[in-house]
Amino acid sequence: MTNKNDVNRKVTLKESRKNETRLENSVLYYSKQLTVSELSAILKIPVSKILTFLFMNKKILNLNSTLDDDTLMLICLNFNIDLKKEVAKDALGAFDLEKDQPKDLLPRPPVVTVMGHVDHGKTSLIDAIRKSRLTSKEVGGISQKIGAYQISYKDSLLTIIDTPGHEAFTAMRGRGAAVTDIVVLVVAADDGVMPQTVEAISHAKAANAKIIVAINKIDKPGKDLDKIKQQLMKYEIIPEEYGGENIFVEISAKQGMNIDLLLESIVLLSDTMELKANPNRYANGVILEAVLDKGEGAKATFLVQNGTLKTNDYLVAGSVFGKVRRMTDENGRVVFEAKPSTPVSVIGLSDVPQAGDQFISLSNEKQARDIANQRQQEKNRLEMNKNSISTFDDLINPKEGLENLNLIIKADSSGSAEALKGAISSIKHDKVKINFIHVGTGNVTNSDLILAATSKSVIYAYYLRPDSVIRAKAKEMKVEVRVEDIVYRITEEIESIVKGLRPKEYIQNITGVAEVRKLFKIKGLNIPVAGSHVLEGVIKRDQKVNVIRDGVVIQKNKRIASLKHLTEDIKEAR
Ligand code: GDP
Repeated sequence: MTNKNDVNRKVTLKESRKNETRLENSVLYYSKQLTVSELSAILKIPVSKILTFLFMNKKILNLNSTLDDDTLMLICLNFNIDLKKEVAKDALGAFDLEKDQPKDLLPRPPVVTVMGHVDHGKTSLIDAIRKSRLTSKEVGGISQKIGAYQISYKDSLLTIIDTPGHEAFTAMRGRGAAVTDIVVLVVAADDGVMPQTVEAISHAKAANAKIIVAINKIDKPGKDLDKIKQQLMKYEIIPEEYGGENIFVEISAKQGMNIDLLLESIVLLSDTMELKANPNRYANGVILEAVLDKGEGAKATFLVQNGTLKTNDYLVAGSVFGKVRRMTDENGRVVFEAKPSTPVSVIGLSDVPQAGDQFISLSNEKQARDIANQRQQEKNRLEMNKNSISTFDDLINPKEGLENLNLIIKADSSGSAEALKGAISSIKHDKVKINFIHVGTGNVTNSDLILAATSKSVIYAYYLRPDSVIRAKAKEMKVEVRVEDIVYRITEEIESIVKGLRPKEYIQNITGVAEVRKLFKIKGLNIPVAGSHVLEGVIKRDQKVNVIRDGVVIQKNKRIASLKHLTEDIKEAR
């Protein structure tokens, strides 16, 4: 079925490219999911061998089972085959869209994100901007908090992203979405530049957004504006009065002071950026938020970045199919179309997409369903790879010299995470800035990998053992996960890196992995015996072992008291 509600909009999706599955120089190139028997044929490894391996890894499959990406990766790791996913561009990440002709482009409003250190007044500013622009017409509407809103200032429209802080921003970028044109960097006058201010600057720069500095809380005593300007110059945020290009505005979000001046500055800056889009094509853009609403089902805020989204358009959002049944603006009012830079809340999706997913609208239902199906089978790896570092070596020895060392710390408890962070912070160095992109507890997760890939960070996993799937993913995404249980080795390594030296390698020599299947007691022995099954390598009688539960090391460096097979003492178990 084709949506006939308009004939003027161009359909802009390119034909997808088909790839063949093949094995070349021990690299398996694939683009679609394979069954066990297909894989066996391509790799020339007997089905029985693959199935046995899977069985040992607690996956009971048959020759017709389709392999998901993680399982395929596991198999390839085991048989020493590199894996390379080739994807038709429209199968993940960005859709393969036609470019616009310059003559089709019209000005569009800027998309503005407010960032800065916690408590410096981001939320207050977002609210103050919204309030300052409420027209009498809008007062009637009920403000909906859909993730973004639009205001008009004089004759210009501005789109303000409603989520302060850089987490949302990073998550978006992690998924390949660049939504922001302008970052308003909020710095509290009484507090100055703080760690998250600096992080915000890095994120804004990495995303190629322009930065306007809003020095907030100027109503408070004890401010030193010159000092803040000096501090910011270290990060190449230089006020116009010093010959730089960054606009500084002194505001009070709480008292609504100079909000207009800030808006004026945003408009001025965006004019110089010549932001343009083509409203006469089917829409594409980014999902800002998505929820499952009890009454209305899957509901998402779409930020249209190009084209026009209309009611009854078919959609692919991430890997979700949909049709625009109803669109509402941030005041809860129904709208029938959304032009470039407009945020709208959309109902009519078959499932909940993820924030940061890209969407396209289409005229053709079948095409939309096909693409959604295809994408559903794919993982969003393309975008992850794009921003990721190439190797640990490149990261610590970049061509232009290392300026920032971004770290993600994961540890078994918040106490040890903070302790490690403290130890790293006390490392003396003058050239390299160490940034803590994230400090958290619990094992390394997929989202840690995404964050690391996009922020070019090294992950330190302290007292943790990332499982084989995460390790394989990290390898594929070229994220360095350093597993270590000794603080000084980590600090020593970082010290070497910031000095530009090659860190010493401490290789954890893991000879084998076994799984504890059952604890049982035997007569005359007070402690239970761990009935175990060797999964990898060899476990030796005279070795020390770590006990890992849910990826966390719960017992460290324990000697094996005795090793038996049935009743017989053995030296090693394979
Ligand atoms: P966020 O964490 O950056 O979103 O900061 P908030 O907007 O939540 O503000 C943190 C605190 O600073 C709140 O108690 C606000 O009332 C206060 N605050 C925000 N803007 C101003 C301001 O311009 N002047 C003063 N005096 N306080 C402010």
